[in-house]
Amino acid sequence: MSGPGDLSRSNLRTLTRRRMLRLGATVAGVGYVGWVSGWKASAAALVGEPSGNTVIRAGQVASAARRVLYRGANLADGRSPALQLGRSVLTDRGRVVWIRPRDAEEDPGPSHGLDVVDARGLTIVPGFVDAHCHLTSPGGANWLDHFRDSPSTMLATAERNGELAREAGTAWLREIGSPTVIDPVDGRRRALALGIRDRWVGRADRPRIRSGGTWIAPPAVMDKGVAIVARNADELVAAALGQLQQGADLVKLYIQAANSNESPWTATEIRRASDAVHARGAIVTAHAMSLGPAKAAVLGGVDAIEHGFRLDADLCAEMARRGTRLVTTLIVPRSWLKIGQQSGGYWATRAGRRYATRLLERGEESARLARRAGVVICAGTDFGGGGSRAGQLAWEVESLVATGMQPWQALGAATWRGGELLDESDAGRIREGGPADFFLVAGDPYRNPAALWNVRRLA
Ligand SMILES: [Zn+2]
Repeated sequence: MSGPGDLSRSNLRTLTRRRMLRLGATVAGVGYVGWVSGWKASAAALVGEPSGNTVIRAGQVASAARRVLYRGANLADGRSPALQLGRSVLTDRGRVVWIRPRDAEEDPGPSHGLDVVDARGLTIVPGFVDAHCHLTSPGGANWLDHFRDSPSTMLATAERNGELAREAGTAWLREIGSPTVIDPVDGRRRALALGIRDRWVGRADRPRIRSGGTWIAPPAVMDKGVAIVARNADELVAAALGQLQQGADLVKLYIQAANSNESPWTATEIRRASDAVHARGAIVTAHAMSLGPAKAAVLGGVDAIEHGFRLDADLCAEMARRGTRLVTTLIVPRSWLKIGQQSGGYWATRAGRRYATRLLERGEESARLARRAGVVICAGTDFGGGGSRAGQLAWEVESLVATGMQPWQALGAATWRGGELLDESDAGRIREGGPADFFLVAGDPYRNPAALWNVRRLA
């Protein structure tokens, strides 16, 4: 998510708390809530991690310039239900050389320049692919305000987000929405995440990024000047192609009307944008909170639905038939509930709690319907675009498991499924000859997905 949905920011500024509470029902029925700065939600509201902690700092990422033998680990690749026991993995300058049973290791080469890691009791997991995030905002209780931070503040926030995500095992970020501003580093006016993406290439202490540029939204939905506004199909196509020309890897449509649960654009209008984007070899994805926008998006040929909190069985069947993915962000309502517990504000009110609880219940039901229909599910945090924060993808894995998904499948949603969505064949995979983009956690994430919080080492 990111924008306020049904209430524009300028309107929000004029609303009193009492009026906001009265509007609660409307808000709950349509999008989700954009918040007024100065409201008594603490700026320090940190969304707590359910369990575990991270022990590796960014500066301690293992050097890619030498061989490392991880000896006797278990391996959870998110592709089959069986944990692979007692595996040894040799890496050399950031590549996986071989993967063998502990008792059938190949010669790792001379001991000089070889780091041997006793990995017994640890589980090797592919680098996370966070399939939905917003790099330039920190998330938390006042996430919306931060889309108005100065460009240099947003760059600093992105650095911290990148560090947090990397330390939590994230190898890739699918970044789908940052404001268009003048980048203080390269001087270019475009979505701020695009320059960050380019500057982080080759950095072991940052995830790699694919970015959807700036949101494309109908009038009066997102904050003025944050999204690119498209009133009709011609403007949709122009905006989509404009983002690709500026260097976006994919296109993000924000399909939400100002005062309705229905789509602001028809499926035919969306189809024109999808066709234009596909003709240039890119994909298009759609923020869709409600059923009407999700339907228009799917019938309009988008490649993925973001959030999809209110899908139904028929639409899930259609998504499965077309191969439209669902990117879940169940930790957004979970984070709102936690913010309410920790720092009060709207999310501690009855209306706030009810909205977040119902959204979570419907989101969980959508995920169940999608899974039963055979829709491919990818996991996202939506950090920066809601209350959630960078480095919390393990929480989304736990949330998917809570919907009845098997832990190995939920790990797949947070790794290689996201890699496929990015069209990056190595993202979220561990294979001989491939990049050593994995991390080691304490415990067995197939028995207890909370183990994914317990990062002990990044490869
Ligand atoms: Zn988002």
